[in-house]
Amino acid sequence: MDFRDSESEAAFRAEARAFLDAHAPDPSELYGDDPLAASNPEGHAAWQKKLAAHGWSGLTWPKAYGGRGLGPIEQIIWNQELARKQLGLSLYMPGLAMAGPTIIAHGSEEQKQRYLGPLLRGEEMWCQLFSEPGAGSDLAGIRCRAERDGDDWVIQGQKTWSSGAEDADFGILLCRTDPTVPKHDGITYFLLPMRTPGVEIRPIRQMNDATHFADTFLNEVRIPDACRLGPVNGGWACAMTTLMNERIGMGGMETFRFDDLAALAREKRERMDPVTRDALVRVWGHGKTLELLNARIVTKLGRGVMPEAESSVMKLAIARLMSEAADMGLRLLGPEAMLRAGTWQNQFLFAPAMHVAGGTDEIQKNVAAERTLGLPKEERADRGVPFQDLPRG
Ligand SMILES: Cc1cc2nc3c(=O)[nH]c(=O)nc-3n(C[C@H](O)[C@H](O)[C@H](O)COP(=O)(O)OP(=O)(O)OC[C@H]3O[C@@H](n4cnc5c(N)ncnc54)[C@H](O)[C@@H]3O)c2cc1C
Repeated sequence: MDFRDSESEAAFRAEARAFLDAHAPDPSELYGDDPLAASNPEGHAAWQKKLAAHGWSGLTWPKAYGGRGLGPIEQIIWNQELARKQLGLSLYMPGLAMAGPTIIAHGSEEQKQRYLGPLLRGEEMWCQLFSEPGAGSDLAGIRCRAERDGDDWVIQGQKTWSSGAEDADFGILLCRTDPTVPKHDGITYFLLPMRTPGVEIRPIRQMNDATHFADTFLNEVRIPDACRLGPVNGGWACAMTTLMNERIGMGGMETFRFDDLAALAREKRERMDPVTRDALVRVWGHGKTLELLNARIVTKLGRGVMPEAESSVMKLAIARLMSEAADMGLRLLGPEAMLRAGTWQNQFLFAPAMHVAGGTDEIQKNVAAERTLGLPKEERADRGVPFQDLPRG
């Protein structure tokens, strides 16, 4: 494992840092008091526009579509520098990290010309409409139907946990288009204009009072076949492209900064008994582990190898660290933590979501167990069985 940037990586990092030092907004302009809420759509749009104008958007996209044609290492370095400035979360992330790369890989030339430019420039926002009440970890179990009607598709069903759906102009949508074949083979991928009649969005209020995501009901939603991405019933391959790019797009984006916790510990020195001190050092240790994991992934990418289970272990480590740091923050604040809202309280209330979003802890452990430890794969009773014949819960 190599801990240092190569010469070209160091030059790229310096370039990124110089740009951010000169242009980065104060995080409060984008997030208000809550660095996890991404609460100011106008601020995000202005920042995204500036990033695109200076060539800091779509780093890994081909130059022909407005990107810079760089590799995943540069993306991770850029993410790390953004995180250093506490600007890691963006309302444009579903578009930039998921929709864009999937359109580049599977879209027609017409679709690329139509969607990619506005997405890069922050003119159109995207959300991800994959999860359903009965399909999250088992994503291929989606039930939302799309039926062909002449040149159109008519969509009926429900999506849930759709982050940013209220503000989004488009959604990447998975629908069941053939229930007579095994579940992975009967799914089609669509690019859904969110203002289409029949799209109803009901925000879900979280325990930190934010409405980060929503239930999305699709009632007889009619869209033209031009909104289909990739072949009919070929949506699973497109969905895999989306999820793989999500991992790379988010790499290095963790929002935890030990310095903030250390500053709080110094401020609340009277609470630093030996047990608390021990817990604080453990958080520091887990933060260091995360840095090493990051270095391992970057080293692998540098050798031209795509990380696999490392991303899962990384996701587990980030969720653990977020929870531990939030617990620590509250412990240091003491009774004061219950009296008012604040950054640590927010992180404490959001941390459980990190163990679920983008694949739960258990699913990440399954991936690591199978791909790293070589343990036997999970039994799959649904292999080869037509979707319509699967037992329903
Ligand atoms: C903050 C946040 C943002 C999100 N944003 C979006 C979004 O924008 N778009 C979107 O489509 N989705 C989004 N999601 C949904 C997310 O992808 C799902 O919540 C996640 O995939 C888990 O699915 P589920 O909630 O249906 O849980 P389930 O899959 O029902 O899991 C329930 C429990 O069973 C366990 N479990 C399930 N299968 C297995 C197994 N095979 N082995 C062991 N344990 C298992 C799980 O680990 C979990 O503990 C978001 C979620 C969160 C928390």
